[in-house]
Amino acid sequence: MSETEPLQFRDPAQAEQLADRLETLMADIDEPVSLMHVCGSHEQAIAKFGLRSMLPDGLSVRMGPGCPVCVTNMPEVDEAVAIAEQGATVATYGDMFRVPGTKKSLADARADGASVEVVYSASEAVELAAANPEEEIVFFATGFETTAAPTAAILDADPPANFSVLSAHKYVPPAMEVVAEMPDVDIDGFLAAGHAATITGYGLFEPFVETYELPIVVGGFEPIDVLLAIERLLEYVRDGKAGLENAYPRCVSKAGNEQALETMWDVFETVPGEWRGIAEIPGANLVLRDPYAEYDARRRFDVEPVDDGPDPLTEQCICGDIMAGKADPDECDLFGEECTPSNPVGACMVSSEGTCKIWDEYGGHPNL
Ligand code: SF4
Ligand code: SF4
Repeated sequence: MSETEPLQFRDPAQAEQLADRLETLMADIDEPVSLMHVCGSHEQAIAKFGLRSMLPDGLSVRMGPGCPVCVTNMPEVDEAVAIAEQGATVATYGDMFRVPGTKKSLADARADGASVEVVYSASEAVELAAANPEEEIVFFATGFETTAAPTAAILDADPPANFSVLSAHKYVPPAMEVVAEMPDVDIDGFLAAGHAATITGYGLFEPFVETYELPIVVGGFEPIDVLLAIERLLEYVRDGKAGLENAYPRCVSKAGNEQALETMWDVFETVPGEWRGIAEIPGANLVLRDPYAEYDARRRFDVEPVDDGPDPLTEQCICGDIMAGKADPDECDLFGEECTPSNPVGACMVSSEGTCKIWDEYGGHPNL
């Protein structure tokens, strides 16, 4: 495909051309290559458009810690449940509603009489607080930079006094570092998430590329976007080079959304935090800074849920290995049997960005 030819995002002929190019690159490389993407929307695009069936032998594209719902730790869900059980209304995104905590999900808590509302945005949670001044409204805020920035904007805009935030927001770059350092994870390059990079900018990955000497390409979500980003990554692998490239220039810039970032870092600071099933990750959880303490649900409520161990079934869940690129969903003994979208055992089966849910939706083993 020529440099000047416009991308037709779902054009089969362009996809074929790119697939041929991947074959050629893999023939040049002449050894297996493993790439990792870190975004549930990339997994959806790959599964939905059958892109794995277009990849040459020896090339695998694995899902990393790319779903913010999946990496929310069970004790964080427990905190939200504990707050709801204390009588506050917990507002959260639909995906979080059914994610199991140690003992129960927010959906279970609501079935038991607690007040839990599903919202589509942080601003909807604020509207709920404004409309119900006699109630405490706690926004259980999950998600990466893409949703942390709007949560920060809300907190920066003097929300009502009965509104607070239980932050389970997470920051992706440190998790990529931890995965890159895992001895049993052998990744040759990262396909970075286009949505998150619209906020953070792709320049953010420069230090990573230098430290880990691995290529990173930021990619969009149409089939051609994904194939193009994979092509770029393979070029780096073939040339034995690290490097950073933006294959999603129609949405992503080097600096990102500077104003959103400024607000985000004004409101949040990073602390170490456990990502579900993966590891304790330094600098990867976002908590409210002191000037915003009055809106911090952890400080407003007594949230120390009793930790009496997880449900035995959840101990068989291999979400952590899946998000570290070490296993596929169908390697989990519970996949499609005890664990289904209507009765999820682990978080990866709940979220529309979770690999188990996506694989279940597209037939159990999509084109691998
Ligand atoms: S929030 Fe956006 S960038 Fe982040 S994982 Fe989800 S879809 Fe991808
Ligand atoms: S199939 Fe269910 S239990 Fe198994 S890894 Fe996926 S979410 Fe966890």
